[in-house]
Amino acid sequence: MSTIAQNLQAVHHNIVAAVQESARAAHGVTLLAVSKTFDAAAVLEAARAGQTAFGENYLQEALAKIASVAAARPPVLLEWHFIGPIQSNKTRPIAEHFDWVHTVERAKIAERLSQQRPAGLAPLNICLQVNISGEASKSGVAPSDLPALARAVAALPGLRLRGLMAIPEPVDDFALQRAAFARLRHLYEQLRAEGFELDTLSMGMSSDMRAAIVEGATMVRVGSAIFGARDYS
Ligand SMILES: *Cc1c(COP(=O)(O)O)cnc(C)c1O
Repeated sequence: MSTIAQNLQAVHHNIVAAVQESARAAHGVTLLAVSKTFDAAAVLEAARAGQTAFGENYLQEALAKIASVAAARPPVLLEWHFIGPIQSNKTRPIAEHFDWVHTVERAKIAERLSQQRPAGLAPLNICLQVNISGEASKSGVAPSDLPALARAVAALPGLRLRGLMAIPEPVDDFALQRAAFARLRHLYEQLRAEGFELDTLSMGMSSDMRAAIVEGATMVRVGSAIFGARDYS
């Protein structure tokens, strides 16, 4: 078995263990393999081991990788998630080449993605990125502005609002990790109580996946635990 296949097996094992540890009703957790900085060969190796959903941060790198994976024979059908910061002049290729975007934090970006989503494709799946770390983080919509953004995004025809995403400040302490993820889960539950049909809580990476799952993550974004250490991040 290849290293990537072995790593995937270990991550799946850890996901199952964390779900069992969670006091919440057993919930499914989707593994998003974050392949940034790793090449198409690594993606195909993971795909051969059964992985289907991949996350990318850097647009140019991602577009080249998506194209080379699309040329692979026999063909592999993968789901691509954009999880990096979005510049407003780069929305078109994101709308054209991705299935999901996890990092929407402004209505203007959402409007562009909706307009630019090709008519022949299903609506682009969207998670709103929330700033749950306060001043320590510059990314994400403030919790107080989240309901208005959710209303705006839910009304756009080219998009399908699926849920929330956050990247908390990295901390080693398990209880502190959980506290940050619990804040995102509360916001998610509030929006659901208001009638938004959300099914995705995108939270947890290699170093804090267990805390995220215990707090109800439905999708974890895992890079280095699958592909190894990155030269740059
Ligand atoms: C890089 C990255 C990840 C994966 O991080 P690892 O620590 O390698 O698991 C997850 N989410 C986002 C937004 C990232 O940029």
